[in-house]
Amino acid sequence: MAVAPERTRLTWDYSPAPESADHVRLRDAYGVFVGGEFADPRSGKSAPTVNPATEAKIAKVAIAGEEDVAHAVKVAREAQRKWAALPALERGKYLFRIARLMQERARELAIVETMDGGKPIRESRDIDIPLAAAHFFHYAGWADKIGYGIAGREHRPHGVVAQIVPWNFPLLMAAWKLAPALACGNAAILKPADTTPLTALLLAEICQEAELPPGVVSILPGNGATGAALVRAEGIDKVAFTGSTAVGKDIQAALAGRDVGLTLELGGKSANIIFEDASIDQAVEGIVQGIFFNQGHVCCAGSRLLVQESVAEQVEAKLWERMQKLRLGDPLDKNTDVGAVNSGEQLTRIETLVAAGEDEGATRRTVACDIPERGHWFAPTLFTDVSPVHRIAVEEIFGPVVSMLTFRTQAEAIEKANNSKYGLAAGIWTDKGGKAFEVAAQLQAGVVWQNTYNHFDPTAAFGGYKESGFGREGGAAGLRPYVRVS
Ligand code: NDP
Repeated sequence: MAVAPERTRLTWDYSPAPESADHVRLRDAYGVFVGGEFADPRSGKSAPTVNPATEAKIAKVAIAGEEDVAHAVKVAREAQRKWAALPALERGKYLFRIARLMQERARELAIVETMDGGKPIRESRDIDIPLAAAHFFHYAGWADKIGYGIAGREHRPHGVVAQIVPWNFPLLMAAWKLAPALACGNAAILKPADTTPLTALLLAEICQEAELPPGVVSILPGNGATGAALVRAEGIDKVAFTGSTAVGKDIQAALAGRDVGLTLELGGKSANIIFEDASIDQAVEGIVQGIFFNQGHVCCAGSRLLVQESVAEQVEAKLWERMQKLRLGDPLDKNTDVGAVNSGEQLTRIETLVAAGEDEGATRRTVACDIPERGHWFAPTLFTDVSPVHRIAVEEIFGPVVSMLTFRTQAEAIEKANNSKYGLAAGIWTDKGGKAFEVAAQLQAGVVWQNTYNHFDPTAAFGGYKESGFGREGGAAGLRPYVRVS
């Protein structure tokens, strides 16, 4: 009898493909950027910013205090008058120049974004930085057409706008806020998050290179107290905030009774709805993109997965199989899908909610993968047997954790999707165009994606309903919050 030849089992794996950070030239210390110059903070305070994947200190960064805020407002007020008096076309040229310089420094910006925030280099290289530049290009074009963008009404800039951004898309959020504000003739004071200030500070250098008139953009790195001082500062005319619902409520309360414009882009618990007639393989990719993009640190993450009962078993099996192929590790490696959690504090929040999910009786499955020794990490996690009242189905986890629920009918899907205090985004997966439009029209969500998820474009408005906030960013709708109309 012939003996079958012994086969050697081949294991194909990815070779490491780390992006080199050698050419990145960061300063050892960054101050505040006011009046077109970097300066030591008047507060005298600073703190290191840390790489969440290695826990290595990257640079020392100023913590702006109340005096820095007051000074920045004064400088911005003077600069704004001249800025608003420029021909709109000229303002557009500066925005265009900033966009071009961002493109020129795109590689450096992507690496720094990844080092400071922990997100995979593929994402910062292919999404964050190109989209940030695209927002400046987009609003460069709007600068001399604002009257058309707001239905031909008389308009004027607010004046000095205070802008506070979170750590999940640091440069992109800065671009979402700065580009329309400047196009409309405002001067802006931006406060980046304390864990991710670096790309905003590189953007300050870009403003210098672009010879943007001093004072039109100020960058005040700092912490929550800096943000609170900025919101309460005398002389600001408008606040634009992206972050948690709790801080959004605090800001709204602080501004009560003041004639200060406000837009809030807050949290979410967005539903990603998979109907039985969807292309299941495509939908599974969409689920993965919806929740594991940027480690789930996404306000519109598809964290509530609603699957039609008839295909639930199939979706669950395919999703779990796909999740096990996700690669967690060095964010600077081009093969990495899931990078580091942004901070130890955020990791604790994720762990607390995941523990609550287990305590309340949901079934947890976490991908078994090698976790680096240093840094903050959380492996992709799937919860099934989830009830709509479980905390993991109600609260924003802001991590790589998806909670799967099921539904039987279209009406039940809509009811469950809307059963949330949030209303930021939703996804619908179906091969019936009519059904997608019918369902979308009944969802209380600012953005509804059909057969895709987490797709952003500078021409499209983004914003929420209910406790996800109010006001829109992006496109023509993004101009309205930055002007007063009469
Ligand atoms: P925060 O809302 O605290 O932070 C967002 C921004 O606001 C940061 O720049 C922060 O500064 C600043 N800030 C903090 N406190 C105040 C204040 N009292 N007044 C004015 N500005 C302030 O979010 P966290 O970073 O604490 O994250 C907590 C949770 O919020 C997350 O787990 C997630 O659920 C949600 N979140 C939602 C985001 C979204 O895009 N919708 C973005 C980020 C978080 P600093 O970072 O320096 O403290």
